[in-house]
Amino acid sequence: MLNIVLFGPPGAGKGTQSEKLIAEYQLMHLSTGDILRGEIAAGTALGLEAKKLMDAGSLVPDEVVIGMISSKLDQNKNADGFIFDGFPRTVKQAEALDKLLAQKNTSITMMLALEVNDEELTKRLLFRGKFSGRADDQNEEIIRNRIKEYNNKTAPLKSYYSAQSKFQSVNGVGTVDEIFSNLRGKIATVK
Ligand code: ADP
Repeated sequence: MLNIVLFGPPGAGKGTQSEKLIAEYQLMHLSTGDILRGEIAAGTALGLEAKKLMDAGSLVPDEVVIGMISSKLDQNKNADGFIFDGFPRTVKQAEALDKLLAQKNTSITMMLALEVNDEELTKRLLFRGKFSGRADDQNEEIIRNRIKEYNNKTAPLKSYYSAQSKFQSVNGVGTVDEIFSNLRGKIATVK
């Protein structure tokens, strides 16, 4: 199985590159952001609770997203591999993911990080906010909070996966095809 954690700050281009990776490697896409927005759209209790935190640019609780991923893994027992997009976002989530995959006799193959500087990220997110309809893309203060959450809670995952020799990164500034080609090159080293 090829199990990739696609990693990078908000606005790094994870969604765009996920689509291309899924098509190339027939992976199942698991995006916690998409799943949470689905819960909000469906008006579930979980969605209502998550919306407040997401609109403020804060992370939702670990237990919530770990539970969501666990049920998605159970629902997709025959997948050839997964691309985790926006998960894990904390060390606790990464530890839980390792346990869940071990129970299925598999593991994370690699973490692929998209490196983009903060100024470029803010610019991209404010631009996306004009069309995305996402409350968390519309306001510079909320965007700064998302980047702060990323730097405080998510960036430490680089060390987590480096310690397992699974961390690889590519420059996330360039054309979509250039970046994709660099990601493919990294995957070729483990496949
Ligand atoms: P982006 O990476 O563009 O910020 P996402 O769609 O991945 O957007 O996530 C949007 C929001 O959903 C986050 O700011 C956070 O509130 C919530 N969220 C998504 N995934 C997680 C996660 N793994 N842990 C905690 N909160 C999450």
